[in-house]
Amino acid sequence: MSESPVSLLGIRFSELQEILVADGVSSHHMRALWGAVQRIAFTDLASVDFLPPLRKWVHENVGSGKRFFIDLPEQSEEIHSSDGLTRKYLLRLTDGQVIETVLMEYKGRFTACLSSQAGCAMGCVFCATGQMGFVRHLTAGEIVAQVQHVRRILAASHPDRRLRNIVLMGMGEPLHNYDSVMRAMDVVSHPAGASVGANHIAISTVGYVPHILRMAEENSPYRLAVSLHGSTEEERSSLVPMSKKWNLETLIDTCRNYCRDTGRRIFFEWTLIKGENDSPETASRLAKLLEGIESHVNIIPLNPTNGYDGSSSKGGEEFQRVLREAGIPCTFRQRRGIDVAAGCGMLKAQKLRKNSTVNA
Ligand code: SAH
Ligand code: SF4
Repeated sequence: MSESPVSLLGIRFSELQEILVADGVSSHHMRALWGAVQRIAFTDLASVDFLPPLRKWVHENVGSGKRFFIDLPEQSEEIHSSDGLTRKYLLRLTDGQVIETVLMEYKGRFTACLSSQAGCAMGCVFCATGQMGFVRHLTAGEIVAQVQHVRRILAASHPDRRLRNIVLMGMGEPLHNYDSVMRAMDVVSHPAGASVGANHIAISTVGYVPHILRMAEENSPYRLAVSLHGSTEEERSSLVPMSKKWNLETLIDTCRNYCRDTGRRIFFEWTLIKGENDSPETASRLAKLLEGIESHVNIIPLNPTNGYDGSSSKGGEEFQRVLREAGIPCTFRQRRGIDVAAGCGMLKAQKLRKNSTVNA
């Protein structure tokens, strides 16, 4: 572990146990500490009535200028969609970076959409986050803190409900920040933590091939979603510049091997962009590409950005029909939360634009 202070929120159960034992504190205090750290909205460990050895450890090790800290980001903005089912939060991190976290309700079940980075290095042309560029990776603690934030909100608004699903589909490319994302997901899926089932956690990647391989090697329990958006090399790399590095053929081969080696299915995300990747011909090329891969395609109409427009619902239905007829399971997702700028990074981009107008 590094010398600079580390957030206790992002430390795995087993790691905390090792730390305590190394410091001479009996591991049977472990559950009390872990429970307190992961308790919703809990930041002041000093006020917990721990047994003396643990109280002493907390006093010596947790707090300002010490080895560990617990820090929940400050909420700088909250927006509710008009359908009342999507709530979007802008959270300000300690260094002033602002990230987005979304809480969505579907049939009484709640899903959190988390950010993994401030900005993103992948530069997808239709994505507001991609257009901001890369700022930095989030720490595991900052990723877990987003889960704590929405759990607190949920506890206040729906005390009988718990957070059921997590998707890493907010700002950033999660597989570019592999270690922190995996550590954070290990924390939030732990039964003594937020206890979100590993098969209810989806990690969405634009096609970061080396780390898809790593997920397969490590037999990662989390679901894999791959954002494809193009059925030919040309079509894809005009939308996803990163495709020049790990091209479509390599990505599809990697996905095929992932399914074969892990026995898991892959969810493919397809952001439907008017005039770019929404023709029936593209749909049938996509169906061919996915032949023999255990897959499910999620078609998402683009939230308009950067001069790109979403396809009409008729276009989306036609695209879905072609895939279905070719035997590819697929779902056409409605544009939920469009009025809260729920596309990846869109709310933050809007704020930046507003601020630059004010400052001009
Ligand atoms: N970097 C990862 C995860 C974050 S983006 C990835 O690309 O998969 C999550 C999803 O949001 C991706 O499928 C992406 O294509 C989609 N997305 C980005 N901008 C969008 C927009 N303006 N409208 C609709 N979906 C968008
Ligand atoms: Fe990054 Fe995903 Fe946006 Fe592409 S779509 S720029 S990978 S966040």
